[in-house]
Amino acid sequence: MNKKIRTRIAPSPTGFLHLGTARTALFSWAFARHFGGDFILRIEDTDVARSSQEAVEQIIAAMQWLELGYDEGPFYQMQRLDRYRAVIDTMLEAGTAYRCWATPEELDAMREAQRANGDKPRYDGRWRPEQGKRLPAPPAHAPVIRFRNPQGGAVRWDDLCKGSITISNDELDDLIIARSDGTPTYNFCVVVDDLDMGITHVIRGDDHVNNTPRQINILQALGAELPVYGHVPMILGPDGDKLSKRHGAVSVLQYRDDGYLPEAMLNYLARLGWSHGDDELFSREHLVGWFDGTHLSKSAAQWDAAKLHWVNSHYIKLADDTRLAGLLEPMLAQRGQVLDAARLPAMCALFKDRCATLVELADWLGIYGRGVKPSDADVAAHVPDSVRPALVSLRDRLAAIEWDKAAIAAAMKAVLAEFGLKMPQLAPALRVLTCGRAQTPSIDAVLALFERETVLERLQHL
Ligand code: GLU
Repeated sequence: MNKKIRTRIAPSPTGFLHLGTARTALFSWAFARHFGGDFILRIEDTDVARSSQEAVEQIIAAMQWLELGYDEGPFYQMQRLDRYRAVIDTMLEAGTAYRCWATPEELDAMREAQRANGDKPRYDGRWRPEQGKRLPAPPAHAPVIRFRNPQGGAVRWDDLCKGSITISNDELDDLIIARSDGTPTYNFCVVVDDLDMGITHVIRGDDHVNNTPRQINILQALGAELPVYGHVPMILGPDGDKLSKRHGAVSVLQYRDDGYLPEAMLNYLARLGWSHGDDELFSREHLVGWFDGTHLSKSAAQWDAAKLHWVNSHYIKLADDTRLAGLLEPMLAQRGQVLDAARLPAMCALFKDRCATLVELADWLGIYGRGVKPSDADVAAHVPDSVRPALVSLRDRLAAIEWDKAAIAAAMKAVLAEFGLKMPQLAPALRVLTCGRAQTPSIDAVLALFERETVLERLQHL
């Protein structure tokens, strides 16, 4: 069988793109790309009260940030209602679905009685059109539509993550597929969509495992070929609970705003519930090359903020300086810092090795901005009176040299000789006064990226 692989991500637009959904999107995308297939974006917006266009836009922005390009969509379930109704009609006709007029009160009483009897509460099939069964006359109110779930036997599938799963049909009662107002229900819409969109592989969170046997039964009732399912285990917080806001940011775009690079996020997310030997750091291309649906973990993954931090620092070091400068510019502008754009790439090159996030890098570049003022404690500790004359002399020399790193280094050397000082006496004082920090990369390199005037100003009051 050489069917084209088609996967999808089907977020409900009730909020931002959650890390868990992003990870599922990544797996679905990588799987499709690996096999040269298609990846589809479907917006599951039937929960009208909780869905919003703003959330759709956020989800799309997050996917764009991660560069998870989709080949088709976004498809909106709310735009497919006619199609769902048409499928329900064919099922009613075929007898795989039926109308049920049981009222909520009646169903409550039924469940109550079942519980009292020690039975598991479930729909008892009272409106099921069994052969030879006499049904009551339909009441005047509108019915719901139920799926006629097969009785006896079991549903079995080979899950990409969890292996073989079997669920007895006795566990499944006749699911409502359309409410009395005609709106189709969640599990039903998913089935029709997966069928119409020709989805061959459904990769999703394992909170959906319980839906799968129902969806398989409906697909079979529709005569459809079944997709392969892969239920990816949850992402847990460090305390073992499901990852939630309590553990820190769970929105993908929050990580963008916190200064993470998309390739770091992608790399880190891919390792949550999937592995390729001991490889921790790999490119998008490697991921696609390796991601063939094997090596998916059975057990839950644990969010490790420190590891993401480490992965990000790796990618910041690797990142092109001009790209970093482009990312930094708006962040700096937001802080009210406007730095010389021409020098920004060199500034990024100089500081990126000591930064794990772009926010840290922006903090560093702040030394080149306005409002740098050393703390009194730093001045007291690092600018003793004994080095002040040397600093004055250095200031005068800096005013007259060619402004580059070599000339700055030479001026410092000359001052050290003139005053009989050592570099560890001069450099910290210079750092504190010009950068507001006692530690920086090599101070001649740092100074060379300043405007000369700024350095002279910061050495003014000695
Ligand atoms: N809309 C579901 C969710 O956001 C996804 C359902 C599915 O992938 O089948 O969890």
